[in-house]
Amino acid sequence: MNSFIYNALPSRVVFGAGSLAHLEREIDLLGAKRALVLSTPEQAGQARAVADRLGGRAAGIYARAVMHVPIETAREARDLARRLNADCAIAIGGGSTTCLGKAIALESDLAILAIPTTYAGSEMTPIYGITEAGLKRTGKSTRVLPRAVIYDPELTRTLPVALTVTSAMNAIAHAAEGLYAQNGNPVMSLMAEEGIRALAEALPTVREHADDAAARSDALYGAWLCGAVLGAVGMALHHKLCHTLGGSFNLPHAEVHTVVLPHVIAFNASAAPHAADRINRALGRKGGSAAAGLFDLAQSNGAPIALKDIGMRSDDLDAASELAVSNPYWNPRPIGRAQRGEIRELLQRAFEGVRPE
Ligand code: NAD
Repeated sequence: MNSFIYNALPSRVVFGAGSLAHLEREIDLLGAKRALVLSTPEQAGQARAVADRLGGRAAGIYARAVMHVPIETAREARDLARRLNADCAIAIGGGSTTCLGKAIALESDLAILAIPTTYAGSEMTPIYGITEAGLKRTGKSTRVLPRAVIYDPELTRTLPVALTVTSAMNAIAHAAEGLYAQNGNPVMSLMAEEGIRALAEALPTVREHADDAAARSDALYGAWLCGAVLGAVGMALHHKLCHTLGGSFNLPHAEVHTVVLPHVIAFNASAAPHAADRINRALGRKGGSAAAGLFDLAQSNGAPIALKDIGMRSDDLDAASELAVSNPYWNPRPIGRAQRGEIRELLQRAFEGVRPE
């Protein structure tokens, strides 16, 4: 066994079909009295339902969360929380809504209670992101970590099938990179492998029967594990590339993760063979290329497999490769300016949707 350091993050998880019924108890445990409910405009109905069940303990609703947390939205939500004298924010939705809650917590004492309805995993991480003048600034602070998380798979039954699959691949990406993280540890590797297994096994059923309760439950369980890995250990090339492609070229978050992941796993395979073995085992494969296994998982579940199909322009591939190598960061296979050409080739393959071998 190699040496390792393991840091547990303080967050309380309540999991299970129908667990939204425990919301009032969880608010009590936070010592909160007045909750501001956050959501996207698309999920305003779910936010209203949460506020209705809280009655007088709902301070109000802010249903204007959008992707990447524009600073103006964060300020508006913070001001509203202050005006309403809220002492807690309930974020019901995907990563965009949870991240809005985090942006509020960053500059206030509001406790965040997250009710995730996608598999993005933001609720388990101390990572925040706020976009100002077109630039997304990210950082880490335990201040923003939701104090309690209610995972109710019933709420994911409405998640459209296409987003279900790409969001699951987004979660799997956290686990896959966690398996070769510089600060990885055996606990997170167990969680990562189990998270990939649970999601990969659930996907075909969820795809056929979007409201299958057991499969939705397994998928959300997998997403929790993968999110916990993202929150606990450092990420590498894959997350760096996706951040660049999403932020600078405005590509959709979960889809970018889906398309890029197999190509990065192929790139890193020789430097992290143990990670590839565990991904294969999680996917139920006897051996071969873990990258191809991930590609097949996405493709067989109907996900996009090429950057050209999700809005990337071939003219931007050079600039993307340049950005990806402009600041040094850790990766099992070292990345620096000398690798610019290889990263450009990786992006070309992802652009065309070539199956990695
Ligand atoms: P999202 O939150 O933007 O949701 C996408 C759309 O799906 C929204 O319209 C949303 O309202 C809708 N939706 C969500 N759940 C639904 C459900 N159950 N039924 C019907 N519609 C539903 O997408 P996402 O992929 O969850 O989050 C992406 C964002 O999260 C990105 O900005 C990304 O950077 C961020 N993120 C942050 C972290 C972190 O640790 N900070 C981790 C992962 C993702």
